Amino acid sequence: MKLYNTLTREKEAFIPREAGKVSMYTCGPTVYHFAHIGNLRTYIMEDVLEKYLRYSGLDVKRVMNITDVGHLTSDADTGEDKMLKGAKREKKTVLEIAQYYTDAFFADCKKLNIRRPDVVEPATKCIGEFIKVIKKLLADGHAYIAGGNVYFDTSTIPQYNAFHNFQEEDLQEGVREGVEKDDNKKNKADFVLWFTKSKFDDQELKWNSPWGLGYPGWHIECSCISMKHLGEYLDIHCGGVDNIFPHHTNEIAQSEAYIGHEWCKYWFHVLHLNTNSGKMSKSSGEFLTVSLLEEKGYDPMAYRFFCLQSHYRKSLIFTWENLDNAATAYDKLLRNIAKLQEGPVEEEKLASLQNTFREAMDNDLNTALGITALYDVLKADISDGTKLALIENFDQVLSLNLLEGAAKIREADALQNADPAWIAQIEEQISLRAAAKKEKDFAKADAIRAALLEQGVILEDTAAGTVYKLK
Ligand code: AMP
Ligand code: ZN
Repeated sequence: MKLYNTLTREKEAFIPREAGKVSMYTCGPTVYHFAHIGNLRTYIMEDVLEKYLRYSGLDVKRVMNITDVGHLTSDADTGEDKMLKGAKREKKTVLEIAQYYTDAFFADCKKLNIRRPDVVEPATKCIGEFIKVIKKLLADGHAYIAGGNVYFDTSTIPQYNAFHNFQEEDLQEGVREGVEKDDNKKNKADFVLWFTKSKFDDQELKWNSPWGLGYPGWHIECSCISMKHLGEYLDIHCGGVDNIFPHHTNEIAQSEAYIGHEWCKYWFHVLHLNTNSGKMSKSSGEFLTVSLLEEKGYDPMAYRFFCLQSHYRKSLIFTWENLDNAATAYDKLLRNIAKLQEGPVEEEKLASLQNTFREAMDNDLNTALGITALYDVLKADISDGTKLALIENFDQVLSLNLLEGAAKIREADALQNADPAWIAQIEEQISLRAAAKKEKDFAKADAIRAALLEQGVILEDTAAGTVYKLK
């Protein structure tokens, strides 16, 4: 597989360090607010990457942090902690906010079929790790204490600007928005590893450290959590493109200073979801969530489909019209799949169409061409059984609920075409069964269920009552 590596600015063959195994790290959400659909674009594309690596036979271990401390509102270590800002906004404690938005994040991920990483680690659970690494950086001369904070000294490493994505003058205080001068810094690019002093002294969560009561910087958490679970060598590190500088640049600086050799070989960055008025961002307060899409009647799968239709290295413009187009195309796709009948699989034809899909995905995870390969399957002169097998196979990576969605359409159509008198009779039998169960006449309840099954009606008892579908 070839992947674009931000570090070398080239598409390169992806070769993990240890044959057959991949260590993968993902910058997780800052849990002071709901994830917006822009954040989720990044997580969807990372999910596809992870699933495609697994599909290709690799054993992936994926780790994600939860940023629940230390991510400040400004890049230059001078802003307020975002978590504290969220807690003040909602008049709750930082830990309450963190728990609430972490749960909300994983609920959104579930709706979008984003697999939960193998390890999910909140930063506040790793304070001991951060202190251990900062201590060594200080002992080795890579860090210094000034004005109560511990800073990383960027002049002690051969090359700080690992991604070459900024000019020296970009670092000047005042050039970047929200950047204030910090007189404690020896070099403009230096950054805080541990805070004991900040303008915002009401930080809720503080821990004892050799440098006083304080809290960690944001960058150190990702380096430490990655090394804790994946060791000194990382195959691939993922995030949104805004993370390249300063976050990932700082991660590389401190990790390599700590371990003394190259840390991560491949850097995968997803471009932003933008609206017509610019980047979608949490801090602006104006953003769309998965729940909002649902309230407006969209299936979260339509949003996943929308994301997969474009390449992760192109910025994607969100408009309602674009989402509508994706939703219509997704529905049409499901309807075409719903027409297919189970049957025998033609293995040779299956292999050749599978190769088309693989070629697309091997080419820098080209999901747009992967979706085209899916349409090619539907158009191909092959048996329905082969088509269904291929759809099931591609969906291991795309995770668009293709077969489940098609089955639902078939059921809905069957119900719509059914004789209303028969439907009324099914519903009556369901009521009778509920009454029998209430009277503990389970034999009768089971007999009703069996009789309905004979007619092709499958009952399912859910928390909301008994529902049925037609075979
Ligand atoms: P945060 O919760 O702000 O730490 O961001 C979580 C992830 O979403 C990071 O990988 C960001 O780079 C990414 N991200 C932030 N804004 C966008 C956007 N508009 N489009 C895509 N990804 C984004
Ligand atoms: Zn990170």
